Amino acid sequence: MVFDYAVIGGGIIGTSVFNKIIRKGKSCVLIEKELDLSTGATKANSGLIHAGFDAETGSLKAKFNVRGNALIEGLVKQLKIPFKRTGAVVVGNDLEMLNTLCERGIKNGVKDLEIIKDDELRKIVPNLNEDIKYGLLAKSAGLISPYMFAIALAEEGAKNGGVVKLDYNIQNISYKNDVFTISSDIEKIQCKRVVNCAGAGFNDVSKLLGVEEFPIKFRRGEYIVIDKSDFVKLSVFPLPTALGKGILATPTIDGNILLGPTAEDIDKYNTETTSLGIDKILNYVKTTFKNVPLSKNIRQFSGIRVSVGEDFIVQKSKKDGNVVLIAGINSPGLTSAPAIAEYVVEELFGEKNEDISILPRESYFQGDSGKIVCRCEKIGENEILKALNSPVPCLTVDAVKRRVRAGMGRCQGGQCMIEVCKLIAKKYGLKLEDIKKESKNSFVMFKGDDYEN
Ligand SMILES: Cc1cc2nc3c(=O)[nH]c(=O)nc-3n(C[C@H](O)[C@H](O)[C@H](O)COP(=O)(O)OP(=O)(O)OC[C@H]3O[C@@H](n4cnc5c(N)ncnc54)[C@H](O)[C@@H]3O)c2cc1C
Repeated sequence: MVFDYAVIGGGIIGTSVFNKIIRKGKSCVLIEKELDLSTGATKANSGLIHAGFDAETGSLKAKFNVRGNALIEGLVKQLKIPFKRTGAVVVGNDLEMLNTLCERGIKNGVKDLEIIKDDELRKIVPNLNEDIKYGLLAKSAGLISPYMFAIALAEEGAKNGGVVKLDYNIQNISYKNDVFTISSDIEKIQCKRVVNCAGAGFNDVSKLLGVEEFPIKFRRGEYIVIDKSDFVKLSVFPLPTALGKGILATPTIDGNILLGPTAEDIDKYNTETTSLGIDKILNYVKTTFKNVPLSKNIRQFSGIRVSVGEDFIVQKSKKDGNVVLIAGINSPGLTSAPAIAEYVVEELFGEKNEDISILPRESYFQGDSGKIVCRCEKIGENEILKALNSPVPCLTVDAVKRRVRAGMGRCQGGQCMIEVCKLIAKKYGLKLEDIKKESKNSFVMFKGDDYEN
């Protein structure tokens, strides 16, 4: 079969484009090199649907952020995933800067922005330090699970005829008689048009396609995760700096609190967390908040922002009009993804017909949970089985965790991981020692022969 489209890279951008192509009634394959979707920047961010006051007026970031924010409600309803418009507030004492941000937001088309102070500010952020006077409140900002958003988009696409290839290691891409052949060591995929949205791997894919490469830079953001708490009820930002939006305190859609991210330029892709990064977060939160529930810290993680200059790159290749290049998608890429997908499919590829009606994806959470497997998050066997049986393969412990939250709680999987491994092993007819946590060599258990003494 020759697919109409191949989308390379299964983060939020790739899954959004894949889903949109399927909605246009075209055939599409989504190609991801890892064992699950959303294992790059899409799994490690603040999970905010930004309002859109931050990006420079006239930039792609501003345009796609505001449009993406407007598209989100319709999408999440259809995908049956949670989303809440909790709002966000930028706090500080520089009223002039807050006014500038507010004016920029209005120019960008953001609605419901207002400057607040004193009691009004303290009412929405009760744990704010007394010396902080003003806030810019953006009511249209919201919270989403970034990985579940990507997975749900892919599941819906797969349920409606799209093909998702995980663990696909592209070795070669050739082009002959208007058809691309994308080869791995075991398989060949053919298609007429290609979208490169491989994030940090963008240049590797472009090289194989023989199209433009860009100078990519990496900026790491570290976070502290706090167990469920009502410490903040909306996202609280400091005033932005040249390095970005700054360290925030935000609830997640599932009720945890995130403190972070830091912003550290690094030479290569590296998701370590560091004591320096954690100290930066701790020092910042103490200057801004009181009653920070640090004793409920359950984890640290980091995500990598990938950038090419100041703005996003979303364009047809000048070398090959059948290739679209999507690069440098740092923040607000999660928010912008639905709008980028719409632009790529309708404007760049010219698929302007109305979206067709397609079958809805099934939620994992419908009625009887069955035997409880994850006690912290109260996730039952039936929910895990639904995730394992969904149309996108769910191959690893972390893939289960992203879908149903088994292992996301206070004990971080200490209690349920073995049960999750057993369910994965049963589903795929594997031995327990073959089950991986996340990446290809991350075996959860020692293999007998490897263990000495
Ligand atoms: C710290 C941090 C905080 C952020 N906070 C927010 C926020 O609150 N709101 C917001 O809107 N945005 C936020 N962002 C930005 C957002 O996370 C990113 O813009 C978005 O996730 C980028 O998605 P992507 O699909 O381009 O990249 P990725 O998620 O990295 O996906 C790229 C995929 O391509 C795959 N790939 C790579 N090479 C190959 C290959 N050769 N073959 C096949 N597949 C390949 C990778 O494995 C990966 O799955 C944040 C980012 C960071 C790092």
